[in-house]
Amino acid sequence: MPVKKHNFSAGPSILPEYTFERCSQAVLELNEMGLSLLEISHRSDEFVDILNQTKELIKELLDVPSSHEILFIQGGASMQFCMIPYNLLPVNGKCGFVDTGTWSSKAIKEAKIFGETHVLASSDDKNYSYVPKEYNIPENLDFLHITTNNTIYGTQLKDLPKTDVTLIADMSSDIFSKPVDVSKYGLIYAGAQKNIGPSGITLVIIRKDLLGKTGRTIPSMLDYQNYIDKESMFNTPPTFAIYAMLQTLKWLKEEGGVPAMELRNETKADLLYSEIERNQMFDGVSEVEDRSLMNVTFRLKEEYKELETAFLKHCERRLISGIKGHRSVGGFRASIYNAMNIKSVMALVHCMEEFEKANN
Ligand SMILES: *Cc1c(COP(=O)(O)O)cnc(C)c1O
Repeated sequence: MPVKKHNFSAGPSILPEYTFERCSQAVLELNEMGLSLLEISHRSDEFVDILNQTKELIKELLDVPSSHEILFIQGGASMQFCMIPYNLLPVNGKCGFVDTGTWSSKAIKEAKIFGETHVLASSDDKNYSYVPKEYNIPENLDFLHITTNNTIYGTQLKDLPKTDVTLIADMSSDIFSKPVDVSKYGLIYAGAQKNIGPSGITLVIIRKDLLGKTGRTIPSMLDYQNYIDKESMFNTPPTFAIYAMLQTLKWLKEEGGVPAMELRNETKADLLYSEIERNQMFDGVSEVEDRSLMNVTFRLKEEYKELETAFLKHCERRLISGIKGHRSVGGFRASIYNAMNIKSVMALVHCMEEFEKANN
C-alpha cells in the first residue's frame, strides 16, 4: 500500500478502509461466484440482495418510519433540485426556500422553472457565513426547502424551522453524521459522495403520501412514483456505488451507529475549532453558533494573508490533502466526515501549531 494521506477533501471524500477493502475484493470476485461485482446483472439474486440489504440498513440506522420510502437515484443531489418541484409542486402551487449558499441557490433556480418560488430568508448579505433564523413561513406553501449543512461555507442548521409546512432537506453533507427524526420530513436527499459512498448515487427518503398531487405528467426517469413501483430498478442502477454504500453503512453500524458518529464528529470538530480559536494566526469563517461539524472553514488573519500558499505547502509536507478552501470563500476548509479518524484531525492541528511557531 502507498503511504496514505490525511484526506480532508469536501467531496468525493474520505471513506472507511473497510469500504475500500470490501469493494476491492468484490471487484475481483463477489461472494465466491466466480464473477466480479462489476459484471453481474442488476437483476441477479446477488445484486437484488445487495440492494435490499442497503435499504434495510438505512431503515435501521436512521429509524425510517413505514410512511417513507427509500430510493436510489442517479444524477446527484443536483438532479433532485428539479425532481423535487417536478413531483411535489402543484401546477398552481407555491414553495419556499431558505437560501444558505450555493447549493440552495441552485435548488431555487430549478424550482422557479416549475412555479411560484419564495426565498423566505437568505444569508447572502454576509457571504453565507451564518444560518438565518427568524423569518416568516407562510402556511400555504406546498413545501419548504432547507439545506442542513452548507458544505462550501461551513455552516450547519442546528434547529429545524418551526412550521407545519412539509419540510424538504438537502442533507448531502451531513446525513448519518448525527441522529435525525425522519418523520419530521416530507423528503430528505443526499448525494452519496460526502458521507456514504462514491459519487454516482443519491439517496432519497420520501413520504409516499406526498406524491401524485401536482397535475403534471412526469417523465418516467424523473418520477418518484416510478422509483417506488420499480424498487429503484426501472433501469440499471449504479451497482458498484450501491455496493460501496452498503459497505460504508455496515462499517457505520459496527462503529456503533449514528449516535456514535455524532459523538466522534463532535470531538473532532471541537478539537479543530479550539485550535482555530487558540492559534494567533488563524480565524474561523462562519458564525460560532452556526458552524458545521462536517466542514470547518478557516483562514489566516489579515496580517498573515500572504502566507496562504506557504501554509498549504506545509500541510502537503505533512501529508494533509484537500484543505484549500472553495473559491467562493477562500482560505481553508477541512472536511471531517464520518470516516475521518481523530488522528487525522490531530495531524492538522499539529500542522497549525508548527506553522504558528515558525511564523509568529
Ligand atoms: C455536493 C453537494 C451538492 C451537489 O451534489 P452533486 O451530487 O454533485 O449534484 C448539493 N448539495 C449539497 C449540500 C452538497 O454538499
